[in-house]
Amino acid sequence: MILRALLLLGWTGCFVWAQAPGEGLVEVSGDSVPGIVIEMRYATARNITGKKIYPDGRAWLRLETIRNMEKVVMDLRTRGYRLVLWDAWRPISAQKALWAAKPDGKFLTPPTKISRHSRGTSVDVSLADLQGKLLEMPSDHDEFSAKADENFSDVPKEVGGRARILRQAMFRAGFSGVPDEWWHYDLRDWTSYDPIQER
Ligand SMILES: [Zn+2]
Repeated sequence: MILRALLLLGWTGCFVWAQAPGEGLVEVSGDSVPGIVIEMRYATARNITGKKIYPDGRAWLRLETIRNMEKVVMDLRTRGYRLVLWDAWRPISAQKALWAAKPDGKFLTPPTKISRHSRGTSVDVSLADLQGKLLEMPSDHDEFSAKADENFSDVPKEVGGRARILRQAMFRAGFSGVPDEWWHYDLRDWTSYDPIQER
């Protein structure tokens, strides 16, 4: 019986591993982060390029990042919100496709530099209500205007308040943010992780 259980565990491990697009990545799902709303924008045409860049809508991160996301999800639930995931690990090929569609260093990391998203330690996130309906936030994903920065005085009070709730929940769970994109967060020690190559 124990042997059977071990074999089963082994098989499950292999199955997950074989599916991961890069070494050390774990799929983000309702199983690994219960209650998360996954809306991978680059798996649709609703992104700055107007084209589908990811092969499917599955999201991948390092296990450490997933563990911190679990904390965020639990924290937000007590405040009446669900966490929305817009982007996670980004393969270097996708970064190149983004750059080809919009070669502007103001908006994107050029392919000559490594995007933080390629480390599996960065996420682009937003908020939904408890039913999973996306809520109005300061700007859309990848909208590089003054509304996207962490100064929320130029957006409606309620909207800025939501962005602050998200920011505080992410900070409490061990993430750091960037000043120009309210949706982007990194594991606080992201520099100690290497980029993850596609298999
Ligand atoms: Zn980002």
